[in-house]
Amino acid sequence: MDPTRASTAGPLPPPGHRVAGRFEVVALAGAGGVGSVYRAHDLATGATVALKLLHRDSEGEARFAREAAVLASLLHGGIVRYLDYGMAEGNAPYLVMEWLVGEDLDARLRRGPLDVGEALLLARAVADALAAAHRQGIVHRDLKPANLFLVEGRFDAVKIVDFGLALPASDDELTEPGTLIGTPAYMAPEQVRGERVDARADLYALGAVLFRALAGRAPFKGDNHLAVLAKVLVEEAPDLAELCPALPPELCALVARMLSKEASRRPASCAE
Ligand code: ATP
Ligand code: MG
Repeated sequence: MDPTRASTAGPLPPPGHRVAGRFEVVALAGAGGVGSVYRAHDLATGATVALKLLHRDSEGEARFAREAAVLASLLHGGIVRYLDYGMAEGNAPYLVMEWLVGEDLDARLRRGPLDVGEALLLARAVADALAAAHRQGIVHRDLKPANLFLVEGRFDAVKIVDFGLALPASDDELTEPGTLIGTPAYMAPEQVRGERVDARADLYALGAVLFRALAGRAPFKGDNHLAVLAKVLVEEAPDLAELCPALPPELCALVARMLSKEASRRPASCAE
């Protein structure tokens, strides 16, 4: 769960609960700051789907609608596939996606760090999917282990989920300027400062994910969010090569570049 977002979890719909007369809740798959994702049964097609519902009395409806629109515009093997969006009983919006079998990277990393080969497969797959989003002018803004899903546990079959904070280039910001959104440990300094961000903020977040995946810890640690945010702003990331001397120096240098405080010093694009 993401404590930087309002969390007002309502009662969970029980298994068997029907949404829009069509999607039957089977089980809870994951809950985040704004909503919960359920494994559900599509009574119309017989397919298993992922059903995302906002926490009750969450104020994120406009954002949720934008998440659905962004996802619907993205068709890429490395991005969870959009299926449907609509209003259920009581004006509760719902989002339907392909059901993914496997686990998210957060669950995987709780069992230990990745080896170099796994991290490189992951980096390539995520960079490829991000590049597709960036080509359409979409910045994800909340890349973190829980939002990277390893299909069947494979590092070369990762799908980005949760475009809840994604910002299309054409859109005006839904948040007030200066409002903090994102996840501190993976947030680029310019995002912490509340500035308008571009693709390079996602590159920073991917660098932080790789750091965490290889070193077993995020680049910046602190007792609370404010402490982490302060370090993101002013401290250089620890030297990955020093923490993990067995890693190839080129990989450590790449991660360090991705974690540059200044966006202009990061790799110019995911394609690069
Ligand atoms: P947060 O805001 O905290 O990041 P959220 O409420 O926006 O979370 P998601 O990140 O979209 O919700 O999903 C929560 C979790 O549910 C994910 O971390 C993942 O483990 C699981 N999940 C998401 N989408 C799918 C899917 N299509 N198939 C299977 N599991 C999924
Ligand atoms: Mg999430």
